[in-house]
Amino acid sequence: MKKILITGGAGFIGANLVRTFLQDPQYHVVIVDALTYAGNPSSIQDILSATCQFFQGNIADVDFMDGLFQERAFDYVINCAAETHVDRSITASTTFMESNILGVQVLLECVRKYTVDKFLQVSTDEVYGSLGATGSFCEKSPLKPSSPYSASKASADMLVQAWHRTYGIPINITRCSNNYGPYQFPEKLIPLMILKSLSNEALPVYGDGSNIRDWIHVQDHCDALKCVLEKGRPGRIYNIGGQSERSNLQVVRNILTQLEKPLDLISFVEDRLGHDWRYAIDNGRISDELGWVPQRTFQDGLQNTISWYLENESWWQPLLKTL
Ligand code: NAD
Repeated sequence: MKKILITGGAGFIGANLVRTFLQDPQYHVVIVDALTYAGNPSSIQDILSATCQFFQGNIADVDFMDGLFQERAFDYVINCAAETHVDRSITASTTFMESNILGVQVLLECVRKYTVDKFLQVSTDEVYGSLGATGSFCEKSPLKPSSPYSASKASADMLVQAWHRTYGIPINITRCSNNYGPYQFPEKLIPLMILKSLSNEALPVYGDGSNIRDWIHVQDHCDALKCVLEKGRPGRIYNIGGQSERSNLQVVRNILTQLEKPLDLISFVEDRLGHDWRYAIDNGRISDELGWVPQRTFQDGLQNTISWYLENESWWQPLLKTL
């Protein structure tokens, strides 16, 4: 059995990633999550077992993390733990620096001390900043983060590369585009718009809704992460994109149409400060080197996601009061 630590495993991507690894019998998964507002025990409670254990803890807590690494002797570590909401980073940035930068430094020191076969840092395309109407981000694109969130993620990427260069620890960094799918906290665009549509509330769209994101179903992202962990060349960065560019307005209209709700529920609101206009990903490296390509179209993925939220009201209903 390979022992893998997945931090942030009670969050959106983490919970889907844990399920992905549990389908492969060679893995024994340990989840660490601080259970912030975004961490949800009900996303993982049905999968906890002798081969999938959960520990509540903060990745920035040196004593806690050191003790766990010493006791468990992990083969692999994937870091999904982070503060992730751009709007929250604009109003209060401190926890972003603590979790997204200092937390990564703590993990890197544990990896250095106890030795693992691979440390995979889950990063974001937002570290590259904004694109104009054409072009796409490749792994050599300069880092130009726009928000406190993306600046904290870019900082972590630099720490991870420095620990690889200085201490030779085997790392990969992945930079993925916008995810959607089951278990996403309903402050993010797609679940927020699904739930507001269901209750016939106004759907707030920033600016004129023209901002473009490259949407990827979370299962495609998780498959890519497993592929990079197992086959990625040490030290390498891999971009991961869904090859599904859509404006926010297109996404919101699509949701309303699928739920047979009127388009006049859309309400344009003042734009986010420093709002990046467009992200697009060049998947060339991960597809050429590792053979990964996204399997799901945006239309199918969105249908699947809407169905999941319709069928899992008991998961999201308690979260509405925290928004
Ligand atoms: P999320 O906010 O849903 O989950 C984050 C999880 O991390 C939560 O369960 C939270 O409790 C936990 N956490 C936060 N701080 C912690 C700490 N200090 N110690 C331990 N646990 C802590 O986020 P997500 O969307 O699942 O994102 C996971 C990772 O993927 C993040 O690093 C994010 O930057 C990256 N990413 C996300 C997207 C996306 O579209 N969601 C795209 C690209 C990259």
